[in-house]
Amino acid sequence: MPCPKPLTLLPAQPNLFGSATPSPAGAAWLCACLYACVLALVCAWQAPARAAEPAAKVKEEVKKGLDKADVAKRNLQLVVMDKSKYPASGMGALPVTRAGAGAGAASGAVPVPAVSARAAKEPALQARAKAAVMAQDAHPESHGHAAHWSYGGEHGPSHWGNLQPSYAACANGKRQSPIHIEDQNTLQGPAEPIQINYQPSNATVVNNGHTIQVNVSGNNSITVRGTAYQLLQFHFHHPSEEQINSRRFTMVAHLVHQSAQGQLAVIAVLLGAGQANTLIHQVWTYMPLDHDDKVNMPPGLLNLSELLPKDQRYYQFMGSLTTPPCSENVLWMVLKEPMTLSPEQIRLFAQMFPNNARPVQPLHGRVVRNAQ
Ligand SMILES: [Zn+2]
Repeated sequence: MPCPKPLTLLPAQPNLFGSATPSPAGAAWLCACLYACVLALVCAWQAPARAAEPAAKVKEEVKKGLDKADVAKRNLQLVVMDKSKYPASGMGALPVTRAGAGAGAASGAVPVPAVSARAAKEPALQARAKAAVMAQDAHPESHGHAAHWSYGGEHGPSHWGNLQPSYAACANGKRQSPIHIEDQNTLQGPAEPIQINYQPSNATVVNNGHTIQVNVSGNNSITVRGTAYQLLQFHFHHPSEEQINSRRFTMVAHLVHQSAQGQLAVIAVLLGAGQANTLIHQVWTYMPLDHDDKVNMPPGLLNLSELLPKDQRYYQFMGSLTTPPCSENVLWMVLKEPMTLSPEQIRLFAQMFPNNARPVQPLHGRVVRNAQ
């Protein structure tokens, strides 16, 4: 604030009426000026307090909103738990094995992914494997350093790159996923089949707040381009993130694998409405309803072959994780033949995750192989 000139100069200055001598009008002006200065000082003192007022209000409103959301979540849980409302779906079964439920979230523990024997001996590879799982399992409560992100609003996909420095690839990356695949723009020709070796396995179903993810242990591998990749986990998006010839599917399952060198390979299985899927029935049966909750499936129950189509021709391209930190150098294989799940199975997931799909990203000149 500009300071008035020293008072001693005031009598020598002309007053408002042009007189060089102090006058009652000049004294009044002086009083008014002093009053204005005091008023301005008081106002400046109070301004921060007034600015803080709306912020406090917003905070209170957010708190109320969160409380309401919690109520909504509990209501959803009651709906899902109420078997009588879904008599024909067969989806009312509750998780029976809750070993580890809550404990992992409380301690911030991350499920240890299945890694190769070599990775098990090498801490660096193990750390990378763990990081890869965390990348699809990032949640502020379980990983304090990760910024909160979501599928809408100010933490939505268009803001991911600005939420924290390690998410920069979400905004600056040139090989991001998902993409829109158009047959006419693909490189059509023969390509090696994916060798898939899945077997009945142990699994833990996790609700990480962004999706339902199934962490898989056991020897489930694929071989492609001469490299073996172990299955770490799979999870779901509603609707499908991939677009094929301008079409989006109802859902998609992403099966995330990792090589001993730490490279990631994802198989996408597109899902449309139709016959119920046995594997999805099993996963939904053990689906935790609360964020950061996890439920162990009975040993050996999970058989991922039930999720795969007979025709395993695919689109192949280089891309990224579709969630922060959007890390690149991920080998993507999108199976062309979709699988089905029932409308009840779709509805159950959609109730919990109405939209958990990242929009399609620019190709930036990438080639998409259309494996015949
Ligand atoms: Zn995914």
